[in-house]
Amino acid sequence: MTVLQSSNAVLVQAAYLVASGLFVLALMWMSSPKTARRGVRAGELGMLIAVCGTLLHSGVVQYDLIFVAILLGTLIGVPMAFLMPMTAIPQRTAISHAFGAMAVGLIGAVEYGKLAPTQGAGSFTVWALMFEILLGLLTCTASVVAFAKLQEIMPTRPIMFKGQQVLNLAVFLGALACAGVMIASPANTTPFPFFVALALVFGVLLVLPIGGADMPTVIALLNSYAGLAASAMGFALGNKLLIVVGALDGTSGFILAMVMCKAMNRSFTNVLFGGFGQAAPAGSGGGEERAHRSYTAEEAAPMLEMASSVVIVPGYGMAVSQAQHRVAELYEHLEECGVEVKFAIHPVAGRMPGHMNVLLAEADVPYDKLVELEDINPELPQTDVVLVIGANDTVNPAARDDPSSAIAGMPIIEADRAKQVMIVKRSMNAGFAGIDNPIYYKDNAGMLFGDAKKVAEHLVKELQELAA
Ligand code: NDP
Repeated sequence: MTVLQSSNAVLVQAAYLVASGLFVLALMWMSSPKTARRGVRAGELGMLIAVCGTLLHSGVVQYDLIFVAILLGTLIGVPMAFLMPMTAIPQRTAISHAFGAMAVGLIGAVEYGKLAPTQGAGSFTVWALMFEILLGLLTCTASVVAFAKLQEIMPTRPIMFKGQQVLNLAVFLGALACAGVMIASPANTTPFPFFVALALVFGVLLVLPIGGADMPTVIALLNSYAGLAASAMGFALGNKLLIVVGALDGTSGFILAMVMCKAMNRSFTNVLFGGFGQAAPAGSGGGEERAHRSYTAEEAAPMLEMASSVVIVPGYGMAVSQAQHRVAELYEHLEECGVEVKFAIHPVAGRMPGHMNVLLAEADVPYDKLVELEDINPELPQTDVVLVIGANDTVNPAARDDPSSAIAGMPIIEADRAKQVMIVKRSMNAGFAGIDNPIYYKDNAGMLFGDAKKVAEHLVKELQELAA
């Protein structure tokens, strides 16, 4: 029996080691579009091995309940994965974080109930449990609010009131004080319900003042919190896999949030306390009516065909209309006509990092045609036509030219510096930041109004007719 138990323990540790290695490889491979698919597979395999290892653990007794949980999770998760549009990934991620963080918080609470009476004052286990429960519960409610804002169940604008930061600080310090009492005397569980309530309330207060435009960055940060909470759980339970994976999750979420802030020229404090997006409601054009030129697809196609270089700038609109396959066809037709075509990729185009890369990879656009912002900008003044497809904020010259703009300083793709710019979108409405875009009124610019997929289809048809 003892030999069996010890060989089982070795098997579990071996599974955890292999899973940890696969998670590290997954992160490494996912950092490049060429190896991203392999990275996802490695992550999936790692998770499968980790779950199997945990199920082999001699501490697991109620397999029937676990089976029911797996069945329920599969019934909810699989349709969600197939039915959820890619543009809704930020809110899907938020709600997944909410459930994951709730699980971390609940496990922490159960472990606290079991372990607290056995621990001495200042015990490391109670420190770890307090950290786990605090981060787990605040991440849970913060993620629910983030989900509600992104899904527009509640107002996406920042919700701010007088004394808000003082209240936030008071709630946070209150939670820390409760944790302090329980660490000093683990057998005293009286502050526990207050601790739980304050942690939950703090999560809500944390996200209320943050606007919808900053929500994907906040989600990356919440991802980091959830990872750190899981790591703390690993310390409390003595589980090495949780420590490693939680640390990987915590640091990668933090790095991602930093990359996103840099790409939007925002600081962390600005994202967390700035109330960005409050002044100008999203969807409003803002400002007075100004003259703009507009083209039909019949007019635009010959201009594209005659160009020697075309740069396509995809954005959120391409994702919404699922135009990537038609855009890939457009690219192929133009290349057949002898036009040199490149895609300019802004790091925050769309609604999640890498959004455009994923869509264009799905449509089999070669990776070497995707050029990053810093590399494409110097080429744009020599480019004959820039075709903007459903992008707005990421090509807004106000970020560069107007220091009073809400997006001042955000790096942009300088489409307005090309010889000719064509912008595909349905109206003169604003993008996510809710601000007007001066590019539409420039002398070298023209609008191609319509749904991105339909316009791309129309352009392909026109090019085919021109070639016939
Ligand atoms: P924007 O959100 O600025 O603009 C998208 C444009 O697409 C809109 O102006 C809209 O105009 C148009 N559009 C919508 N639906 C369609 C359709 N079916 N067909 C054609 N056009 C359509 O997009 P960008 O990609 O330029 O910028 C992304 C924004 O999101 C930035 O503000 C960025 O900071 C923010 N953000 C991105 C994150 C990321 O990780 N990617 C994270 C955090 C924030 P109309 O309604 O007239 O059609």
